Amino acid sequence: MTGTKTNQRLRRLAANTSFVMALSLVGIKVAAWALTGSMALLAAAVDGVLDVCTSAVTFIGVRYAGRPEDHNHRYGHGKGETLAAFLQALLLVGAGCALIYQAGDKLIHPTPLAALEAGVAMTGGSLTAVACLVGLQSWVIRRTHSTAIIADRQHYVADIIVNIGVLVSLGITWLTGWDRVDPLIGLSLSLYLIWCAVGIIRGALHVLLDEELPKAERARIKAAVRGCAGVVNLHDLRTRNASDRRFIEFHLEMDGDITVRAGHDICEAATEAVLALYGGNAEVLVHAEPAGIDDERLDRRIRPASSPLTRPGPTPGRG
Ligand SMILES: [Zn+2]
Ligand SMILES: [Zn+2]
Repeated sequence: MTGTKTNQRLRRLAANTSFVMALSLVGIKVAAWALTGSMALLAAAVDGVLDVCTSAVTFIGVRYAGRPEDHNHRYGHGKGETLAAFLQALLLVGAGCALIYQAGDKLIHPTPLAALEAGVAMTGGSLTAVACLVGLQSWVIRRTHSTAIIADRQHYVADIIVNIGVLVSLGITWLTGWDRVDPLIGLSLSLYLIWCAVGIIRGALHVLLDEELPKAERARIKAAVRGCAGVVNLHDLRTRNASDRRFIEFHLEMDGDITVRAGHDICEAATEAVLALYGGNAEVLVHAEPAGIDDERLDRRIRPASSPLTRPGPTPGRG
């Protein structure tokens, strides 16, 4: 349990730092955009406003996910963190679309940039600060595997690329004076933001829609259960990843004539074997069954080989 508490503390450290950083960066970016009128800097400024929103969402999400189980949420609050990641990615998509519209307009009606030196200095400062934050987040992710902080870091990595894009844009404009470079770079930055957001959304949907664990992981679980003494077989293995822990359930086939106590011991051994795969960071539910009964099975319902015509009708049994 102490490991979980350290994890919680690290997650909060990363979330808090991210929030403070986002607040201070947004002022710099808005000021730099106001000074120069650069489209690339407007993309960075919108990105900065979003950093505040998304860090706030992460902040709330991590706090929510860290709450212990209660009467109303007996599976814990782990998905709160993934929901936070999902929402911030949606915000990114919206902002990306608005920026594409703005940059397209500037491409058609270009306007010259001002105060290029100040813009370069401010962008360079932001870049350094964000790079430090990404370093801290990577360190915390290696220890906690938090999906919200992974999403938040993804956002700040995008932020670094945005800042580099702004520097390139201001540099080229300063050297060549060509005023369509800036909206072009603004446009590519917006497309990049949307691409990143779509990746976060896809990852979050795995968790939110209870996608099954990968085949290799399912195979490891089956092997661990079959290795326990007294286990004849298992079926209807069903798994999901709730971000903070995995939920694993299955039907365990055993000798039907042993005592309830002996059967319970076999269930406990199978549970321990699965928990050992995840360092205890999982919840296992076992349904004990006398081997050989023909129950209504999920495995049979979803087996691709069984077409509706050849599938056997419902059989008596308690599953
Ligand atoms: Zn028990
Ligand atoms: Zn069964």
